[in-house]
Amino acid sequence: MFAIAIDGPAGAGKSSVAKAVARALGFTYVDTGALYRTIALYMIESGADLEDPAAVTARLPQVEISLEYGPQGQRTLLAGRDVSEAIRTQEVSMAASRWVAHIPQARAFLLDLQRGLAQRAHVVMDGRDIGTVILPEAQLKVFLTATAEERARRRTLQLEEAGQPAEFEQVLKEVVQRDRQDAEQLDAVAPDALRLDTTGLSFDQVVEKIAELARARMEPAGGKG
Ligand code: C5P
Repeated sequence: MFAIAIDGPAGAGKSSVAKAVARALGFTYVDTGALYRTIALYMIESGADLEDPAAVTARLPQVEISLEYGPQGQRTLLAGRDVSEAIRTQEVSMAASRWVAHIPQARAFLLDLQRGLAQRAHVVMDGRDIGTVILPEAQLKVFLTATAEERARRRTLQLEEAGQPAEFEQVLKEVVQRDRQDAEQLDAVAPDALRLDTTGLSFDQVVEKIAELARARMEPAGGKG
């Protein structure tokens, strides 16, 4: 199997880039942030005290997560219920980033699930620790980044397009806060990762660059090698 790991801070465009790279190569796109978000959603709904790592850890065995892949891409299921949209709220986002992501037991709980996916299909997986922890053997690792201002600018545009206009300054504040919360995971960049600063690059340029690198590293399909 061929795996592409795309790590980087919130708002660097990982998910849209990873999706497009997967489409270009015919790979499966795996959104790992959805897993942290689903644990957060479960804890919120079941009334667990998110600030208490022991309480969250005690409930982990009850969290039944499964991922499905179809024409619409990844669907995230919590005990059989499709929560793909429910995990996108600001509340879930902050809970995942602030609490769940920092609980080692929660990270360990999600490890096999993520590795299993990469054993069954060619994947483009995006997250924070894919190249370092989840798939250290990934054939291609990219660390995608952009300045906080650029990421906030893009997110503001995205929100506007989604009919949820937001103040740039507020979005920037949230981006900086998420960076701080994610710092532990972000500090570790795989030594063999390609750092790609997307500030000033077009979306298509970024996608093409990664797809090209992947193609160059894949076994030549016929003839050459
Ligand atoms: O990428 P997304 O914003 O959906 O991720 C939600 C949160 O989950 C992130 O802010 C981060 O704290 C955490 N996360 C993580 N490791 C991953 C993916 C996400 O710690 N591989």
